[in-house]
Amino acid sequence: TLARHGADHEPYMIEFEIVRPDGEHRLLRARARNELASDGEASQVFMVARDVTEEYEQARRLRAEQEMALATARRAQELANTDPLTGLANRRYAMAEIDRAIIVARKARRSISLIVFDLDFFKRVNDTYGHIAGDRILAKIARLSQLLVPEGGLAARFGGEEFVILLPDADTHAACEFAEKLRWTIETGSSVEELPAITASIGYASFEASDTSLTLFARADAALYEAKQAGRNQVRMAA
Ligand code: GH3
Ligand code: MG
Ligand code: MG
Repeated sequence: TLARHGADHEPYMIEFEIVRPDGEHRLLRARARNELASDGEASQVFMVARDVTEEYEQARRLRAEQEMALATARRAQELANTDPLTGLANRRYAMAEIDRAIIVARKARRSISLIVFDLDFFKRVNDTYGHIAGDRILAKIARLSQLLVPEGGLAARFGGEEFVILLPDADTHAACEFAEKLRWTIETGSSVEELPAITASIGYASFEASDTSLTLFARADAALYEAKQAGRNQVRMAA
């Protein structure tokens, strides 16, 4: 290091590590100044060295603490957006995502569809098998939804036993196909160990220019209500 600064006219700073006789490593920071001989090379170097080991250690601790605080904040944000029972996005986060998707769809003139579904006679499941069993079925339905949802889409638990799935780039035709596949998957795949499979009623709506997230959801939800009225375990398209 000193050789590198051998021809410096100005004072400079160097840092180096020393190992003391007792084996301890210390970090030193020195302000140095060359006394130059007539050939321009340093003939003597004057320096004042200060032990900065603790300073360094403190800065490292501070950085580690900052990183930990960031990780904690990230985790808190994740928790605030997640339904604890199923691990799916919660209603608050889903509504915000639908808002974002609508902005994108409007700008890029792309379609989006929203699927809303509610489990059929779920109260009966709780009454017959208990609330814990009901919870396990909800978790299973969440896993099935998550498996079906396409990349860029979102499955969320909207409340109780009601879920939504956001399908980007899906027109009514694609949404209908998805909804039917979802209905079938739940009917045939929602059984958990000794518990029988259940069914779901499904409504879907595709984004129209006048829609907000609220009206898009309301239209899909009204279609879901029609599916219930028509006898459950079926799919209905929004008006
Ligand atoms: P429908 O076909 O008309 O939807 O009938 P349903 O019995 O599913 O509808 P209802 O709204 O009467 O009942 C919903 C039930 O869902 C009642 C409630 O106990 C149950 N439920 C809501 N949230 C949870 C939950 O987190 N865990 C469990 N185990 N049950 C829940
Ligand atoms: Mg229900
Ligand atoms: Mg319900």
